[in-house]
Amino acid sequence: MAGRIAFASLGCAKALVDAEQLIARLRALGYELVGDYAEADLAIVNTCGFITPAVEESLEAIGEALKGTGKVVATGCLGARPEKIAARHPEVLTITGPAEFDRVIEAVTRVLPPDRDPKTALVPPPVKLTPRHYAYVKIAEGCNNRCSFCIIPQLRGPQVSRPAAEVLAEAARLVASGTRELILIAQDTLAYGRDLRHAESDWNGRRVRAHLLDLVEAMAGLGVWVRLQYVYPYPEVEALVEKMAEGKLLPYLDVPFQHASPRILRAMRRPGGFEAYLDRIRAWRRAVPELALRSNFIVGFPGETEEDFELLLDFLKEAEIERVAAFKYSEVEGAAANDLPGRVPEEVKEERYHRLMQLQQEISARVMARRVGQRLEAIVDAPAEEPGVFVGRTAADSPGVDGVIYLEGEGLTPGDRVLAEVTGADAYDLFGRVVRTLPWTLPFA
Ligand code: SF4
Repeated sequence: MAGRIAFASLGCAKALVDAEQLIARLRALGYELVGDYAEADLAIVNTCGFITPAVEESLEAIGEALKGTGKVVATGCLGARPEKIAARHPEVLTITGPAEFDRVIEAVTRVLPPDRDPKTALVPPPVKLTPRHYAYVKIAEGCNNRCSFCIIPQLRGPQVSRPAAEVLAEAARLVASGTRELILIAQDTLAYGRDLRHAESDWNGRRVRAHLLDLVEAMAGLGVWVRLQYVYPYPEVEALVEKMAEGKLLPYLDVPFQHASPRILRAMRRPGGFEAYLDRIRAWRRAVPELALRSNFIVGFPGETEEDFELLLDFLKEAEIERVAAFKYSEVEGAAANDLPGRVPEEVKEERYHRLMQLQQEISARVMARRVGQRLEAIVDAPAEEPGVFVGRTAADSPGVDGVIYLEGEGLTPGDRVLAEVTGADAYDLFGRVVRTLPWTLPFA
């Protein structure tokens, strides 16, 4: 055995996929992954650097890992700003940016010699950090947008998409090994393939373009749930909605609108605004009435007046977005928005955040109550604590970030697909009973 490594991963699903790839490579070199710093010879901390609280959390996680093992390699988004980590924790062995797997491996092998030669180790078997029945599939890395509050393009670079055949081969392998929900992720999923000029590649005897619509079309043939996250609000969303109407994609749109005031959106260097967004949402819902929307909003962005904020609240009331996350604006070193005038005081940000969350809770409760009496398809995640009850999710619920449905039923296993009758609701979750299980229509069943 080459040595024992403890691995801590912070941040979003994209960072989780990086962690899966890195762990697979470490295992291929003979390292054992342990869950406790006390048992580890070295720790790797996969950091997040998206907003100031995430930076702080990452620095604290590195501190804990240092206390536990004394030897730490820091990687991930915050690693793209090594001076931040080095200033607080000068004893960290190596600091690398996101997805710099070779540099992490090199740092680890310097301290803990591997069982196998890092250059000749076989292609590692994949590692999954999610349960067997769902998986994140990263289709591209990096971002070509320039939102003024965000430094992801600096941290992760311009967008680099994976060839369609490679993505589809991974999806098919996951389905063959038990995955029943594929969640496609990227910084900007709808931009997938633009950097490749939508080049075609061969998959299963056919040519597939590196284009999101082609991926969705091909994945529909795998017979499992396909969900998209992080869709930038381009007009091309319409074409995705058509795929939802055809039943090829879950009726779930994760579109981070960030605000509704056109003035604030311009300062954020993002398109659209109240009217434009509402028009689009109405059109999407006309095409797919069961559509569930998820969105993020930032409150207290520089220059946000009470009037801008009230426009955002009015937008939420009109749009009735099913799933909303809100963040108080925080400066991120290197972001263009730091130079904008009109800094909003912390207490005003706090007050606006609570007003928004309070309003959204009422909206969510209303939307959830409308589901009572409906029959919805759900996927089973796990048994609940109470006997005879299972935790599941409908199409409106992405794992870990949205609500759940508590299902009364017997003999279910994670990954089962069921038809459920909704019998109750609270502000974010549903309660129901299983009417019957539904078969997956897998191509190789
Ligand atoms: S779309 Fe905007 S917020 Fe999202 S990663 Fe790209 S620059 Fe950042």
